[in-house]
Amino acid sequence: MNNAIKKVVVLGGGTAGWMTAALLKKVIAGAVDIELVESEDIGTVGVGEATIPPIRLFNNVMGINEAEFLRETKATIKLAIKFDNWRVPGEGYFHTFGAPGKSLAFCHFHHLWLRARQHGDTTDLWQYDLNYLCAMAGKFAPINAKDSILELPYAYHFDAGLYARYLRKLSEQMGVVRHEGKVQQVFQHTNGDIKCLVLDDGRELSGDLFIDCSGFRGLLIQDKLNAGYDDWSHFLPCDRAVAVPSERFEKTVPYTRAIAHSAGWQWRIPLQHRNGNGLVYSSAHYTDQQASDLLLANLDRKALAEPKFLRFKTGRRRQQWQRNVVAVGLSSGFLEPLESTSIHLIQSAVVRLIQLFPHNGICQSAIKEYNRQSELEYTQIRDFLILHYHVNERSDSQFWRDMQQLAIPDSLRQKMAIFADNGQLFRDQNDLFLESSWLQVMLGQGIEPKDYHPIAGNFSPDKLRDMLASIQAIKQEPLSKLPDHDTYIHTMISRS
Ligand code: FAD
Repeated sequence: MNNAIKKVVVLGGGTAGWMTAALLKKVIAGAVDIELVESEDIGTVGVGEATIPPIRLFNNVMGINEAEFLRETKATIKLAIKFDNWRVPGEGYFHTFGAPGKSLAFCHFHHLWLRARQHGDTTDLWQYDLNYLCAMAGKFAPINAKDSILELPYAYHFDAGLYARYLRKLSEQMGVVRHEGKVQQVFQHTNGDIKCLVLDDGRELSGDLFIDCSGFRGLLIQDKLNAGYDDWSHFLPCDRAVAVPSERFEKTVPYTRAIAHSAGWQWRIPLQHRNGNGLVYSSAHYTDQQASDLLLANLDRKALAEPKFLRFKTGRRRQQWQRNVVAVGLSSGFLEPLESTSIHLIQSAVVRLIQLFPHNGICQSAIKEYNRQSELEYTQIRDFLILHYHVNERSDSQFWRDMQQLAIPDSLRQKMAIFADNGQLFRDQNDLFLESSWLQVMLGQGIEPKDYHPIAGNFSPDKLRDMLASIQAIKQEPLSKLPDHDTYIHTMISRS
């Protein structure tokens, strides 16, 4: 029992640090002591506002009351992302958290839709998607669906700084000990494991397991343990971002916007008190000045602060768990926020760590499994992001023409080929993105399947038309009963 993990030290108090401390303490409870060190002087990255539905599971496990959460983090609801100008300028499509229609056994709904199109039906796929219909109508309330056809999966837009502050409060209430200070030195045991962190005032923080949430730099995982980095810039060449908050629109929409420009894309995220905005771009194509001018010219509202510039290298830490250090958050890698996956990657890293928690000592088998799973997760998300860039028909800039010529991973090439040939989609094991996500982005970016599944041919054209019409009617039905998104948020945050 000499190697038992009794004390966990979390280095960093950004979103990653506080999500890690909070969930570990909540789930592992009395088994370990958790201490966290952060430096207000260094601060946090200060961006990260859009999430995906699994965040609700995190909040549920934490026992978070939704009304309090919405109030504390100034959150709004997110049902989808709207992609503008990605296939060609002037056109847009949605990637919703929902699924179109209702699938048959062994046959996804879109095969029925593909066949109906061959018979001249012009209804677009999203008309069968409740998330899309609610997003467009600006309506929302949770639906307690008895039938999966009326599920309305959702996530949030929130102020990540406020979220971290909220989780800090919950963590400290549970007994997590916070230290303010700058880590100046890191000492190792003779075997290379981390022994303790030394703060600028001389305090020493020793521990059995260290979670490196120190941000892009990776103070422990990289500076000390030299875990290495897989650079994926050749697949995803954007390497900078500029962010600026602006005044909110009068009405908030329950979706994120991702607006492509000639060498990058702009996010627009509605919060209760402001809009979050930013431009992700390639420094080979825009200077910082050009990028910030472009962003400021496209806010459609007054900026509330000076633009903030961020540099990143797309990729992943080669060993995300090494020795007695686990990297979580930006220290573990970075994939641009096109599909809002970074905060989710924090969550899944902590869940993975909990599942493999080294109770009576760290074993190589657990490290190996952790690293295998995180590599797979990063790779699957990377492929999905590449899809958005690679399949485009833009001829208006070198950036987009270059993206069309990109040498893409075989895994992605195969997925695109089978969809183009016969509309088939298969979800790889544990892929974060369901078939409906791949479907929407493939269609939105312009891949047209040549064929549909033969099961969709089992119905006469009249029967097919009736089936589709009745599904559309079922999907439309809740709209008239749902409140406006703003009304819903206002009602929730006014609750005592
Ligand atoms: P940081 O926020 O950088 O925190 C690092 C912590 O380590 C800080 O507390 C700092 O004080 C501490 N620290 C560092 N060095 C020391 C030291 N020597 N001593 C003591 N403390 C130290 N994610 C999403 O899910 N959705 C989004 O929409 C989204 N948008 C993004 C847009 C951009 C441009 C970028 C760059 C990221 C975005 N992200 C998004 C990612 C998200 O911001 C991060 O995943 C998240 O904030 C976690 O950051 P972090 O906690 O790992 O690092």
